[in-house]
Amino acid sequence: MKNNLTILCYHGVTKFKSYGIENSSGKHIDIKKFKQQANFLKNNCHVLSINEVNSHLENKIPFKNKSVMITFDDGFANNFTVAAPILKKNNLPAIFYICPKNIEDNELFWVDKIECCINHTKFNKISIKYKNKLNYFNLSNAKNKKLALKKIKQYCKSCSDKIKNDVILQLINVSGINPDIKYSKNYEIAKWSQINKVIKSKLFSIGGHSFNHSIMTKISKKQLSLDISKTISLIKKRLNIRICHYSYPEGQKDHFNKKIIFELKKNIIKTCPTAINGSNNPNTDPFLLKRSMVGFNKIKFPIKGL
Ligand SMILES: [Zn+2]
Repeated sequence: MKNNLTILCYHGVTKFKSYGIENSSGKHIDIKKFKQQANFLKNNCHVLSINEVNSHLENKIPFKNKSVMITFDDGFANNFTVAAPILKKNNLPAIFYICPKNIEDNELFWVDKIECCINHTKFNKISIKYKNKLNYFNLSNAKNKKLALKKIKQYCKSCSDKIKNDVILQLINVSGINPDIKYSKNYEIAKWSQINKVIKSKLFSIGGHSFNHSIMTKISKKQLSLDISKTISLIKKRLNIRICHYSYPEGQKDHFNKKIIFELKKNIIKTCPTAINGSNNPNTDPFLLKRSMVGFNKIKFPIKGL
């Protein structure tokens, strides 16, 4: 739409071929495609940094036609080793929302752990106990594996953080797979040194994305407060920056609420985009910003012309 702000939501840019059902959703987009998109954005759009967007929102300044902001969620290594150099070459600003605990412990994201176990197990059938019963999954082919992945992920997003962790532990046991980047380089989490190097450029900003990707509505109020303050302090400790921007893990309407927004504001966070599809104008609430996914089986680029 004219004079609206489109916020692009990326997760990863990959140079690698995937095995089996790994990256079948297209979460990590191909480097060639990303180069094309960066070139298109440079030549056709008005790409703003998070601080410029914040200033538009604070002062209700209209956005120019084809205004865009580039965001990356999660903090995969390829954001800093593959995407950032391409963005820099095209002089495009971006914000990377990271989970500091995953970086600190070099721990894979829980969704990737599930994918890795299902993708690489030698068993054709597994069972996991939840909802007070044994749940059986047929893993005999790629189609069934994708279905099992979808079901287990869906359940893990609906239950408490504690139950989710238990389901993942069971899955690791029954699949006989210990999730690791040896199975896919796309799973690799960024290192502090890689981030530190990238943020030397004024083009790039860092925001929080929770401590280790717990869904913010699935943890207690006390845990939530701690999760936000630990996220801010660990990023400050490792990167020597005080973050004032955030993005909600998962980011659909069930994954944030007024209490969470209040807690973020208490911690001097100024903006927090959702993952709900749509565009924005200068009157959009900075905590209800909409985004357009890139990748994730979305064949069309969200901006007309490419
Ligand atoms: Zn995320």
